Amino acid sequence: MPFQIFQTESRSILSPVSGFLAEAGFTHSLTPARNCTFGCTYCYVPTMRVQAGLRPEDWRHWGHRTTFKHNAAELLKRELRPHQAIYCSPLTDPYQPAEADEGLFRGVLEAVAANPPRVFVIQTRGPLIVRDLDLLRILAERTSLRVSFSITTDRDEVRRIFEPHCAPIPERWQTAEALTAAGIETSIAMAPILPCDPEALVARALACSSGPIVADPFHVRAVKRSGATTREAAFGICAHHGWSEWLDPDFQRSILCRIAAAASAAGRDFGYGPGGFGLLAREVL
Ligand code: SF4
Repeated sequence: MPFQIFQTESRSILSPVSGFLAEAGFTHSLTPARNCTFGCTYCYVPTMRVQAGLRPEDWRHWGHRTTFKHNAAELLKRELRPHQAIYCSPLTDPYQPAEADEGLFRGVLEAVAANPPRVFVIQTRGPLIVRDLDLLRILAERTSLRVSFSITTDRDEVRRIFEPHCAPIPERWQTAEALTAAGIETSIAMAPILPCDPEALVARALACSSGPIVADPFHVRAVKRSGATTREAAFGICAHHGWSEWLDPDFQRSILCRIAAAASAAGRDFGYGPGGFGLLAREVL
């Protein structure tokens, strides 16, 4: 099915946060589009349905369509305040491939630079972010800017199965390196942790980044009784490829311990769950 790209006019662009984002210290989220053409097989967003502001066609066709909020930059001019700590975005990737043609996020960054909040965190896995390095450098001088760059495994053959529409792992390491070299505080987000060599993954993450390392295993109902969870497609992939241990809470804890030990040995901050997001919400020193 070809990707479908839509535009809509939104009534607002910043949403007060609750739950784990509020617990972490964020005040608002910024979601520039509905749905995400990266379409990851484990993405928790479509499992939230209307709670995530989605429509039935979004969760039924997750990853096949996206709807850009074309007036996002205009709305930001009215809604930004200096005290805000903004997470962008828990519900889409601001640098999904369609952004290359849309060019919406440059306007968002210009608006944020004109009226900087206290903290601005960009969560992405899109190498397209290097397009905006000029604006990111300006923003980093005016606010606590942090890029949380998502790299979920060190094995590209695993990435191809779980994230076929995302950039290859080597390109993502290069992107993290470019951000760090440009002086942008860059964290590596291993969320969810896909089948990997944990020590190799964290070693590369430490080398390519300057900020905290954040990780989260697959969400499973054994430990997360309600709310957003892993998409069914990822459970099927784990069963098919013999990776079901990566869904087991005890095994997940052992992987988190190994990553934590490696980060600690390197003297770097590491967190998972709300604590990990708390590291992202801190002001950049
Ligand atoms: S990039 Fe993020 S929001 Fe987009 S499909 Fe993947 S996990 Fe979901």
